[in-house]
Amino acid sequence: MVDMPLERTTGAENVIWDLSIFYNGVDDPAIETDMKSISDQIDNFAATYKGRVASLSVDELLTAVQSLEAIYDRVGRIGNFASLLYSTDAANPQYGALIQKVTEYDSAQEQKLVFFDLEWNNADDALAAKLVADPKLAAYSHMLSATRRYKPYQLSEIEEQLLVEKSVTGSSAWTRFFTQLIAAIRLDFDGQKLTMTQVLTKLHDADRETRRKAAESITAGLKDKAMELTYIFNVLAADKASDDKRRKYPTWVSSRNLANKAPDEVVESLIKAVTSNYDIVAQHYNLKRQLLGLDELTDYDRYAPIPVKESDAFYTWEEAKDIVLTAFSAFSPRIAEISRRFFDENWIHAPVLPNKRGGAFCAFTVPSAHPYVFVNFEGKARDVQTLAHELGHGVHAYLASEAHGLFGMHTPLTTAEMASTFGEMLVFTDLMNKETDPEVRLAMLAHKVEDTFATVFRQISMNRFEDGLHTARRTEGELNTDRINEIWMNSQKAMFGDSVNLSENYGRWWSYVPHFLHTPGYVYAYSFGELLVLALFNIYRERGAAFVPQFEDVLSAGNSDWPEKILAKVGVDLTDLNFWNEGLAAIQDLVNQELELAKQVYPDKVK
Ligand SMILES: [Zn+2]
Repeated sequence: MVDMPLERTTGAENVIWDLSIFYNGVDDPAIETDMKSISDQIDNFAATYKGRVASLSVDELLTAVQSLEAIYDRVGRIGNFASLLYSTDAANPQYGALIQKVTEYDSAQEQKLVFFDLEWNNADDALAAKLVADPKLAAYSHMLSATRRYKPYQLSEIEEQLLVEKSVTGSSAWTRFFTQLIAAIRLDFDGQKLTMTQVLTKLHDADRETRRKAAESITAGLKDKAMELTYIFNVLAADKASDDKRRKYPTWVSSRNLANKAPDEVVESLIKAVTSNYDIVAQHYNLKRQLLGLDELTDYDRYAPIPVKESDAFYTWEEAKDIVLTAFSAFSPRIAEISRRFFDENWIHAPVLPNKRGGAFCAFTVPSAHPYVFVNFEGKARDVQTLAHELGHGVHAYLASEAHGLFGMHTPLTTAEMASTFGEMLVFTDLMNKETDPEVRLAMLAHKVEDTFATVFRQISMNRFEDGLHTARRTEGELNTDRINEIWMNSQKAMFGDSVNLSENYGRWWSYVPHFLHTPGYVYAYSFGELLVLALFNIYRERGAAFVPQFEDVLSAGNSDWPEKILAKVGVDLTDLNFWNEGLAAIQDLVNQELELAKQVYPDKVK
């Protein structure tokens, strides 16, 4: 095999975001000045309202909430600046110091504001109901009502303050340590020292030996840090257990469901629907095994490209931008116009850099600024999809922020993936419609199937891992690496059945996934969101252009109402349990199409 250069030029090398809307740099003296002035503003706020929140008039409450909104915007500007800088270079000590300083600062400020929600929740039920129904408070009524759902789980002010204060050296510290540990790992690969992100990418390589070596190298790296990683997972699971116990949440996932505005029964039915359709996963991987001409698929073959001509497709940054904007523009000129601003006004950070965080995200930031998109662009087809995904988030943030400001812009996680996944779907459909070669179409369909699996099935299998982890930590005490490996393997074997042979080494692969630590319970929301989008996409196909303004309205609505009410605007009924099965039927349909196309293109290989 000819050695390829490590990284080809994509044109994304110089696509660096401009953070000057916040500050001019890590040592901008305005950061310090703002910290002081915001702290004073918060002291004044507390002096004005503390002890009075439960008895404010409508006008007073409106003024208070507006002041709070202004405070959070200012605080958010500093926090976002620090975390965006840090995400581009976790090894920069100045960035590390700033983020630590900001974390401590935020915690101190948050403690001073804890009283507001507590006192509001202590307001008499009848009085609170009257206030939130007042037209003057219309813009904040959903936020105020949603806050009161926490009433049964809230603690005394001093306890709440202590939890916030101690999280700086508790959960936040451990999570940050995990981020630094993973970012600093250098894996041996063919005599080179590579980052986790660089080696993970090699699992998508067409050459099986490359994939095998990549998997071996990742396993070795995780094994080397097993003591630290196992300890971090244990500490954070125990930390969550003690918080949940103190607040009297019935299960490990209850607080997440509450934050998601998703009733427990809805989440349970989602999990049940997905886990009882795991055979769709096996159908696809059995086909993949035949196409690859292998007797057996192993864990390092999961992401192997199907060996057709498309598999080495390479996209420059300009091509990726063009593909995404063209697809968005055919759907909605408004959405395309907003997306274009991300490119034109440097709201994107795109290159792969040595100490840059892996993966991709969109930072919503605050209404006085604008959202930012973070990717690690390497020119792969899936990087183009990722770009569409994060820009979808960006558009969602932009629209919701514009319509409802700070308190209405952050949707719950379950609907947070709505625009992003829809954006990916638009790009996929556009590319698929233009492609006439059945072989290339097959490869594209296979990619789509695997992306959908990653979102729907993999996330639910990871939710089953989290369920096992938290339950075991609560009933068995501290867990050793082998025990966590076992929980992971059980959750993964259930999904793959006998279609993929998972080696013992794969048992360690829970230990680099940041979501489990950053936001426990997060992962099922991806599945929720994807199945929701499959349903929305069917509605779009049926209604055509009439759907577009309705969808824009749904995005603009952000977090200004209950998800089921917002989605009722486009005719989706989240409380209907059959809804999940419709989304799963759409996935089965994709796999059926894939199978038919494969039989047509490779009649000799596919039985
Ligand atoms: Zn996303």
